[in-house]
Amino acid sequence: MMKPAVTIPEDQSFALATLPPGRAQKRLALAVMLAFLGAVLILAGALSNVQLARIDSFVPAYGTAMFVNDMITAVLLFNQFATLRSSALLAISIGYLFTGLMLVPWMLVFPGAFAPGGLLGAGLQSTDWLNALRYAGFPTFVIAYTFLKVADPPKRLWEGSVGATILSSVAMTSAVVCAVTVLVTVGEAYLPRIMLDPVHFSTLALYIASCLILWNAVALTLLWMHQRSVLDLWLMVVVCAYAIEIYLVSFPGFARFSAGWYAGRVFGFVSSILVLFVLLYEITTLHAQLLGAVLAQRREREARLMTGDAVSASIAHEIKQPLTAIIASANAGLHWLDRVEPDLDSARNAFRRVVTTGHRADAVIENIRVHFKTGGRTRTSLDIDDVIQEALAVVRDQLRRHRIAVQADVNKRLPRIRGEQVQLQQVLVNLITNAIDSMATKNGERVLSIRSEVHHSSYVMVSVEDTGEGLEPGGAVDRIFNPMFTTKADGMGLGLSICRSIIEAHEGQVWVTADKGRGAIFHFTVPVDSDSPS
Ligand code: ADP
Repeated sequence: MMKPAVTIPEDQSFALATLPPGRAQKRLALAVMLAFLGAVLILAGALSNVQLARIDSFVPAYGTAMFVNDMITAVLLFNQFATLRSSALLAISIGYLFTGLMLVPWMLVFPGAFAPGGLLGAGLQSTDWLNALRYAGFPTFVIAYTFLKVADPPKRLWEGSVGATILSSVAMTSAVVCAVTVLVTVGEAYLPRIMLDPVHFSTLALYIASCLILWNAVALTLLWMHQRSVLDLWLMVVVCAYAIEIYLVSFPGFARFSAGWYAGRVFGFVSSILVLFVLLYEITTLHAQLLGAVLAQRREREARLMTGDAVSASIAHEIKQPLTAIIASANAGLHWLDRVEPDLDSARNAFRRVVTTGHRADAVIENIRVHFKTGGRTRTSLDIDDVIQEALAVVRDQLRRHRIAVQADVNKRLPRIRGEQVQLQQVLVNLITNAIDSMATKNGERVLSIRSEVHHSSYVMVSVEDTGEGLEPGGAVDRIFNPMFTTKADGMGLGLSICRSIIEAHEGQVWVTADKGRGAIFHFTVPVDSDSPS
């Protein structure tokens, strides 16, 4: 009846920066890296010394696409930082922001992109210096990320305000990019020459490119040595892609607008898009898992609350009837004793009823406890007519008080059933009490009929019929089995819902057929005990 609680592993991680990569993720990352290396081997040979036409719109197109990519990645990573508050994550987020922002001055000063000689009054050298600084920046931030990650004591949180930290990081990075741009463009005359002419790289450019590839290799090695998370894995792919891009841009053609230069840029774009897609996929998958876990936790909590509510409400409901009977019998006993000539026999009978009903209340409480604790597994072979007689004995006083005649057709040839005696008795007591309540408010003939018969060969059906108010078909009928539905001033609306839960736990069914003004008939079925000889 109660669903088993959903367990959520305590240490389950839902962040890219803390989640260890699975085997499939590792394989995928390795495959991507190998594909990159394969591509570079093919491209390097095929594209060496091939010079292509100068396409001026290529630089703004590439620059804008890369800018958007880097910014989206930076936002995703800042978001991870806001959740995990790790300084390492802050470093790598700033890294993406830096490389993205550095594309802006690079595009502006690139000759032919926005103005024939480039904007910002720059000359020949600044474009590639800006580019080199951008290429140097990313692995530097990756190395900072790795060291901070290693140094970060686990679970130590960033203490400042997250929003202020992100804002100041954005402001400071922008300021650094502006400062670098000013220094490079204004101080261009003092910079070593890395372009021989508007197209060809100097030897220094090739040395710088080699150093940058080496710097990426250092970042890759450090990451590899300290890799722990999905993020580390994909950063390794990114660093690898950066090294390949730098190689392709510089070496196969040794010049701008060479086939290698174009191929390197396209490669850089494709690889960064690929990595962004993977990150987005991982983040959305984690988000879905997190959502699933939160919902499962909420359901579990609600189930626990419901159990608590249901236990207390059931106890209150089920104990009300015996308590009323105990008070009535005790009052009757006192009444017999208070007479001028006390009627000791009647008083003794009344007090015996107090004891019997007290025991029944005790059994009811115990049964509810067992029911909620074990889901109810103490079934025995029963004669349903015995259960009916016992239930009638419990409500005998109420029936007499309301002058209700009882017709119980005892069917001695019924097969035995399998069930919990106290629970089935409770079902009958609830149904009979409702029948009494319904008839008590109506004048005229008051008859309670109880029948038992075989139903669909493997069930026994019990019907409890009254001549009370009845129920309007299509009206409340649909809701009477819902918990808390009641039309009575002092009702709790639990009786029928408890009946249903007990009967359904017995693999039976309960339903009502009613006519407004002509009484109601409640039926329930319980399975025949197949082990018992009929
Ligand atoms: P409660 O008795 O506390 O109201 P129940 O779940 O036992 O809670 O019953 C819910 C409602 O179903 C009652 O308030 C009443 O309106 C309706 N009902 C139950 N039994 C009968 C019946 N025999 N005749 C007419 N209405 C009934």
